[in-house]
Amino acid sequence: MNDNKVMVVGAGTMGNGITQVFAAKGFDVLMVDVKQEFLDRGVKTIAKSLDRMVKKERITESDKEAILGRIETATEVPAESDVFLAIEAATENLPVKQEIFRKLATAVADDCILGTNTSSISICTISGKVPNPERVIGMHFMNPVPMMKLVEIIRGLDTSDEVTKAIEDLSAKLGKVPVVVNDYPGFVANRILMPMINEAVYTLQEGVADKEAIDSIMKLGMAHPMGPLALADLIGLDVCFFIMEVLHRDLGDSKYRPCPMLRKMVDAGRLGRKSGRGFYEY
Ligand code: NAD
Repeated sequence: MNDNKVMVVGAGTMGNGITQVFAAKGFDVLMVDVKQEFLDRGVKTIAKSLDRMVKKERITESDKEAILGRIETATEVPAESDVFLAIEAATENLPVKQEIFRKLATAVADDCILGTNTSSISICTISGKVPNPERVIGMHFMNPVPMMKLVEIIRGLDTSDEVTKAIEDLSAKLGKVPVVVNDYPGFVANRILMPMINEAVYTLQEGVADKEAIDSIMKLGMAHPMGPLALADLIGLDVCFFIMEVLHRDLGDSKYRPCPMLRKMVDAGRLGRKSGRGFYEY
């Protein structure tokens, strides 16, 4: 195994951010997505983010070129790979993730760590059919990945102490702060955050206030850096909706039912920043 090489599966909001963070710390990264255009968009997003860092004089132009030079792309998980860590950051959908894990398990070495950036789906459910499930772990980065310090590390029932320690150490090496939690729907971050966002959408749907008022109240009154509706646009309304569905289904409590307005916006393709329109326009 090459202990300087990782694979990131998914080149969307999170996948390209994770790729950037690893490449910036000197790791070689293979970023995989299903279409070349998604990979190109991911690389373009990384280049733009690095341009902003050059402008702020946090890195030089040659650092930027070196970081981009460490990123390779592929439209499929290769049949064989020598990476020491593969992180799945694809769409929040269980069959999609299970299929990726099935492919990864045959492509990489038996002791390659398999991480998932899932926001809510049980690690045990994703890892159920993978040989050696002790190497499967949640490595939940926050959005935007280059800026946010937290990595919520989720231990499945089978995840070993060695793998947990290795991922804690690696997160620290990336300049992040790891916090270890147990496997349960939504873990900690989204168990608490998503019902708040969902409630903000209900508040809008019921006409209690307009979106600007809801966001201002939460920003100014609770010292949140951004309001819940603007945050939903940043996260992606489809991602918020999928997470609420997981909480609702897996915890079985009606308090987690996704707000109909959230579903309607996702059906209409208003996904937030990534589609140019959500609660706000971009
Ligand atoms: P996204 O929609 O921006 O990107 C998902 C990417 O996965 C897309 O480019 C899609 O083409 C790709 N994909 C789908 N199936 C694939 C496959 N079989 N192989 C390779 N790539 C495939 O979504 P995102 O916001 O980046 O979310 C990715 C994961 O990270 C999800 O599990 C999500 O819950 C989690 N997450 C999201 C956030 C957030 O704020 N958006 C934060 C933390 C975690």
